[in-house]
Amino acid sequence: MKAVRLEATGRLALREVERPHPGLGELLIRVEACGICGTDRHLFLGEFPSRPPVTLGHEFTGVIEQVGDGVHGFRIGMRITGDPNIACDRCPECRRGRVNLCHNLQAIGIHRDGGFAEYVCIPQQQAYELPDTLDPLHGAFCEPLACCIHGVDLAEIRTGSSVVVLGGGVIGLLVVQLARLAGATNIVLVTRSEEKRALAERLGATASADPSTGDIMARVTAADGLLPGGADVVIECAGVAETIEQAPSFARRGGTVVILGVMPQGVKVALEPFDLLFREIRLLSSFINPFTHARAADLVASGTIKVEPLISRRIGLEEAVEAISNPARKGEIRALVVPAIG
Ligand SMILES: [Zn+2]
Ligand SMILES: [Zn+2]
Repeated sequence: MKAVRLEATGRLALREVERPHPGLGELLIRVEACGICGTDRHLFLGEFPSRPPVTLGHEFTGVIEQVGDGVHGFRIGMRITGDPNIACDRCPECRRGRVNLCHNLQAIGIHRDGGFAEYVCIPQQQAYELPDTLDPLHGAFCEPLACCIHGVDLAEIRTGSSVVVLGGGVIGLLVVQLARLAGATNIVLVTRSEEKRALAERLGATASADPSTGDIMARVTAADGLLPGGADVVIECAGVAETIEQAPSFARRGGTVVILGVMPQGVKVALEPFDLLFREIRLLSSFINPFTHARAADLVASGTIKVEPLISRRIGLEEAVEAISNPARKGEIRALVVPAIG
């Protein structure tokens, strides 16, 4: 079968590899779609640790082709979404229920072969059923959505909350929708891209703002701004130093800032502890998807979260190498690798 292999940092290639065989408790999945995520580009550049040689792709969905011994509750032909993050269940953090902080975390598509391939083999406990009637590509959004749900949970958005979302990529546009569902009344998305601002407003943002023109802070937090005094919750979804540094200033006194965007390892930012302390800003970070994948699958399956407008292009495995090795195209939200395309 064909697979997109990270052979070493900066070396990605489409290779012919042996089709995996499901071991004890494993499922062989015929991949229908797998999203290209910023993390894949970080892995390619060596900005995020991985274990090459490995097949990338952690945002996959597909249909069960074969089941290993000891599999229960799954059958051939069932559509599933995969939670790529495998916790060990034995380390101190797992025993405290903090599975995303597992000392031995293994991720499908990072440490073991993932979904940029015709088939992927996964442990059954990582699979969540999706309806047959669902668009076969939509399941690829369950993984990023599950990460966003964790961030929105941590933010404790309540009925009537005001929220600023920084960044209009797939994470920002999913967070806008989740904030709305969680009961936020005012949701402001901040991004340079005009198309993304328009899309955010279609998906539930009450307003949007362009940070590249004028005084963005005044436009949002001034007495005559969009959210006078600042937001209850600010969620950083861009993963760039500039927005992390700005994030606390968008929050009101006593407000919460959640960092959801992934920054390259080693990057430092400048924050002002005096301001954080005297305004008692709660600064949190949100890492992956502890116990949120089932909720993500339900939200995608029911159509409650709109994912179709987030698909910018569908490409085959042949084109995937070039797409992962380069920055996302201008205005692109999510490119999906669809192995059936070729
Ligand atoms: Zn991802
Ligand atoms: Zn563990």
